[in-house]
Amino acid sequence: MKLYDAHTHYYDEKFAREYPGGTHGAIADSFAAGVCGFLCAGTNPDTTKASIALAEQYENVYASSGLHPQDTADYSIAELPTVLSAVESLLDHPKTVALGEIGLDYHWDPDRMVQKEAFDAQLSMAAAKGLPVIIHDREAHGDTMDLIRVHKNATGMIHSYSGSGEMVREYVRMGWYISFSGPLTYKNAEKLRAACKMVPPDRLLIETDCPYLPPVPHRGKINTSALMIHTLETMAECVGLSIQEMAAQTVENACRMFHISLL
Ligand SMILES: [Zn+2]
Repeated sequence: MKLYDAHTHYYDEKFAREYPGGTHGAIADSFAAGVCGFLCAGTNPDTTKASIALAEQYENVYASSGLHPQDTADYSIAELPTVLSAVESLLDHPKTVALGEIGLDYHWDPDRMVQKEAFDAQLSMAAAKGLPVIIHDREAHGDTMDLIRVHKNATGMIHSYSGSGEMVREYVRMGWYISFSGPLTYKNAEKLRAACKMVPPDRLLIETDCPYLPPVPHRGKINTSALMIHTLETMAECVGLSIQEMAAQTVENACRMFHISLL
C-alpha cells in the first residue's frame, strides 16, 4: 500500500529539537512506514528554499513556494512586491509543483489588509502560471471563499480543511480538492467527518501538516507522515472504502492535482 502526504513542513526546527535523527530521521521512518512521498510546503522564500533542498534529495518529494498569511506579518504593503517576486522566481524550480501555502489566518491575525493583498496577488500568480494552489484558511472561512470565488481560473487544494459541509460542496463545485489531516480523527470532530463524507472520493487528499496536528492516538506528540495511517483509517470509514482503496485513491488524486507521477 502506497500513501502520499499532500502537505508537510519537514524543514521545521521542531524535528531537530524533538525527533530522533531530526528531519531526515522522520523522513526515513515515514518511508519505512509505507509513505512513498510528500509535498513540503513553503511559507516564505527561506522555507521554500529549505523545501526545495529536501525535494532535490529525495525521490517523490516535491516543494511549493508561497507567502503564508502568518508570514505576511514581516512585511508592509509596500514591501510585498519584493517578497512576492522572490516567491515567483522559486516557482520556476523543476521540483516546485504548487503555489502555497497561502490564504488568510484570523487566529494569529497579522494586518488583514496585507494578508488579503498577498493572497489576492498570489492567486493571480498561480492562475497565470497554471499551478495548483495550497490554501490555508484559519478562522477566515467567509473571506477566504470570497477571494477564491473572484479568481475563477485558480484551482488546487484546501489544506487541513476545517470548514462546514456547505462550504465543501461549494469548493467541490468550483473544482477544488479537499485535504484532511489529523483533526479528522478527533473525538469531537463530527462536523469535520460529515464534511469529509460530502467530498467525492476523486477530490480527497490526505496530509499530516507535520510536525503539527498529530492524529489520535498520538495527540501531544510530534507528527510525521508515518502516523498518517490513523487519518487514512478514519477517512476510509467516512467514504466507505477499504483502507487500501482509500490510499490508492488519494495517491491518484495527489498525482493528478500536482501534475506529478511517482517513481
Ligand atoms: Zn502547513
